[in-house]
Amino acid sequence: MCYLGRVKISIDELKAQSQHIEFKETIEGLEAVKPVVGDITLSLSSYGVKVVGRVQTLLKLHCDRCLRPYFQSMALDIDEQLVYPSEEDMQRDRELLKDDFVELLPADGLIDVTDLLYQAITLATPSHLSCGSECPGLPSGASGSSGKTLAGDKKSQDLIDPRWKNLKTIFSNDEKDKN
Ligand SMILES: [Zn+2]
Repeated sequence: MCYLGRVKISIDELKAQSQHIEFKETIEGLEAVKPVVGDITLSLSSYGVKVVGRVQTLLKLHCDRCLRPYFQSMALDIDEQLVYPSEEDMQRDRELLKDDFVELLPADGLIDVTDLLYQAITLATPSHLSCGSECPGLPSGASGSSGKTLAGDKKSQDLIDPRWKNLKTIFSNDEKDKN
């Protein structure tokens, strides 16, 4: 099967039979340098739709400490339940359901597999990013500090003009005072 763009599976398709997807797609919005690849199976369950499988990709992340980019391979098991929303769900329990990582089935009956995987990978991405035990720590040393100095010099150069303008203003004020 060949998919173009986002992978969407309708509940009607699932009623006929479970859908097995060989997923391979570059997901927009992810810091991925490789397409997300894997096997996903969607099937009807008693409360909605069950999505299981395994996907992997390679993310390009930036270390929180040294700010260097690094690559992290991601492989994660997908095990999601999409439940039919009840009237109550639509109202008071919606936030609660989200907290429990239970997704509601979309009203149009089209399950956006791409979005599901995007969210799963985003959730699995660590909030504290570290390039690893080899991390050199906060940016410092010759290259880092000289870069900063250059930037600083440029800034102070830019500031010279206003200072001269200020001096001129002071002079003119002095002259006014004299007058
Ligand atoms: Zn680092």
